Amino acid sequence: MSKIPMKNAIAELDGDEMTRILWKVIKDKLLEPFVDLKTEYFDLGLKARDDSDDAITYASAEAIKRLGVGVKCATITSNQDRVKEYNLKGLTPSPNGIIRAELDGTVFRTPILLKNVPSTVSCWKKPLVLGRHAYGDVYKNCEMAVPGPGKAELVFTGADGKEIRKTIMEMKGSGILQGIHNLDSSIESFARACFIYGLAENIDVWFATKDTISKTYDGRFKEIFKKIFDEEFKDKFAKAGIEYFYTLIDDAVARVMRDEGGFLWACKNYDGDVMSDMVASASGSLAMMTSVLVSPDGVFEYEAAHGTVQRHYYRYLKGEKTSTNPVALIFAWTGALAKRAELDGTPELGDFAKRLEKETLGLIEDGSMTGDLARMANPAAKEVLDSWQFIDRIADRMR
Ligand code: NAP
Ligand code: MG
Repeated sequence: MSKIPMKNAIAELDGDEMTRILWKVIKDKLLEPFVDLKTEYFDLGLKARDDSDDAITYASAEAIKRLGVGVKCATITSNQDRVKEYNLKGLTPSPNGIIRAELDGTVFRTPILLKNVPSTVSCWKKPLVLGRHAYGDVYKNCEMAVPGPGKAELVFTGADGKEIRKTIMEMKGSGILQGIHNLDSSIESFARACFIYGLAENIDVWFATKDTISKTYDGRFKEIFKKIFDEEFKDKFAKAGIEYFYTLIDDAVARVMRDEGGFLWACKNYDGDVMSDMVASASGSLAMMTSVLVSPDGVFEYEAAHGTVQRHYYRYLKGEKTSTNPVALIFAWTGALAKRAELDGTPELGDFAKRLEKETLGLIEDGSMTGDLARMANPAAKEVLDSWQFIDRIADRMR
């Protein structure tokens, strides 16, 4: 059988623990037998990041920017336990944080739907994609408790020394204060990434804030989204037959619960934090959720939404064949290959990615699945497979 050629390479970022084990099995069984894989490989395993003082992480981010497409395995974000376990020089920053900052990117998460694993929200028939702004607001706040009565003020001292001053509250007793901020440039990047994603996936984009109450702060988000849309995306959206829809956050939440899905929900940082957990839990398993980082200049990095599945890895080290679900990892690869195919104009590679997704979901919908899904399947699973059996069975179907 002749292998499908690739025109350009993708950046491949290997990772840690159970996902690193499955990464190799997926490449050996599902990709390399069919595709003449072209990747630039970066080992983002914890030890390699520590040894290189994260030079490898920065190099991988550079490669994603240069090649336009990357695929990433899950990685450990170190803490004191990991420093001991891996005999590290010290704490290393989150690799996802480094890459997100380098690409100035926004993360989009999408549940992978199955006929036999129903969503707990029965009207959601199509994936609900969540785009979360990953900068500022309450996540970079400054807060204080005040002991008693007094005047709370908001003061801005410009680079030229000029002051702007406003009274927050004449406080009658003890209480709490909080200062938050955001930057126009960050909101602009977020807006662009959302509209680029909507166009790439051909889906409507929804955005919501509380601008009736927060006229200046949330109002600025609303204004910037409208300006970027009108100036850069209006015509492209019209041509693609998709829409940008703005509403109040309470209205958006109410609509989401009675809509069939199939759109991008762009969320401010806090809304995205809370709502992505709601969307993920409604669709059952973290392993049935994909994640893609999109930069405002249209660079894409695909990964699984889950972590390195540490508990399963320790069982694997003891010799157990675990039933870890590899679907999100497989979909990270198919997402990256399909994007490569789209950018390179190589439909054969795109068709391969589509087929691999179809056979993966087909196997599960025919009743053969990993343990996490078997717990929720309706009708009940016919057989529960370990990860290796599951991947072998997909390979059989591909052949
Ligand atoms: P996790 O790896 O997502 O796993 C948490 C639990 O969720 C697992 O113990 C397992 O539950 C279930 N699970 C997750 N993925 C699964 C899969 N593919 N198949 C079956 N079950 C799955 O989170 P964690 O254990 O809290 O974190 C482990 C490491 O991952 C940490 O060092 C963290 O820094 C890192 N992390 C990395 C990323 C990333 O690179 N994107 C994201 C999050 C966390 P059961 O044990 O009950 O089966
Ligand atoms: Mg959360």
